[in-house]
Amino acid sequence: MPHTLAPDLRRALAERVRYCHEMGIYDFYRREPRVSDAVAIIEVDDLASTSQELREEMSAKKSTVVASVLTQNPEQAVTDPTAALKLIREDLGDCTRCKLHKQGRKQIVFGVGNPRAELMFVGEGPGADEDMQGEPFVGRAGQLLNNMIKAMGIRRADVYIANIVKCRPPGNRTPERDECETCSPFLMRQIAVIKPRVVVALGAVAAKNLLAINAPMSELRGRFYDFMPAGAQSSDPSWQGTRLAVTYHPAYLLRDPRQKGEAWKDLQMVMNYLGLEPPKKSAE
Ligand code: URA
Repeated sequence: MPHTLAPDLRRALAERVRYCHEMGIYDFYRREPRVSDAVAIIEVDDLASTSQELREEMSAKKSTVVASVLTQNPEQAVTDPTAALKLIREDLGDCTRCKLHKQGRKQIVFGVGNPRAELMFVGEGPGADEDMQGEPFVGRAGQLLNNMIKAMGIRRADVYIANIVKCRPPGNRTPERDECETCSPFLMRQIAVIKPRVVVALGAVAAKNLLAINAPMSELRGRFYDFMPAGAQSSDPSWQGTRLAVTYHPAYLLRDPRQKGEAWKDLQMVMNYLGLEPPKKSAE
């Protein structure tokens, strides 16, 4: 049954929904309210009645669900990043939000690594090996990524690795726009929890989704971008976001090893910023 809301709350909620729309977020999903939350759950029709314009916007997007938009994401209530990531994973559940769940995925590939990592890598989506093992970048491309990480003088366990989509697209096709848009809010929340100093987007799909820029790799690489994960708030209000760099996807480097030198330049830019040195060669 629709709740009747106080006018102030109704206005605040309408503002919040409008803000979400401006950020490109249209779909809200139901979560049972927790007693401690300042939750307002209302029927969308009820909310939209505050504004005809808003009603049209919502129906255009075929949003039929209930809004719970004044609620914080659960992980914002905790400061420990391990616990916070666990809450995001729980929120994701046995996800059926996009069609990838019924297109042959074996499991969700959430992300792996140090919850306090200074450096995070983001790929496109799990392949067959990742789908099988439940961990990103464990196949051939993953072996190359491991070598790249090692060449930076750090270990795989020091960084955090995730993908734009968490389920394997059938036949390793490129994830589609609706799949990326449905899944990436969870990635944004992971980034907001980990608060890395640098995110490296691996390949054009990751770069274009994170930056919302449609440009060729040649234009995307070679510089840092200021990056604040869209729609996700950190539990640390002083966090000003991170830097983002773009480099070639390791799978592309496997196909065209001549570009490895260019990728190394991108990683050196990141290393300079993070104060990393390549490992010393041991004397033979
Ligand atoms: N390619 C990706 O983009 N991600 C993986 O996890 C593996 C291969």
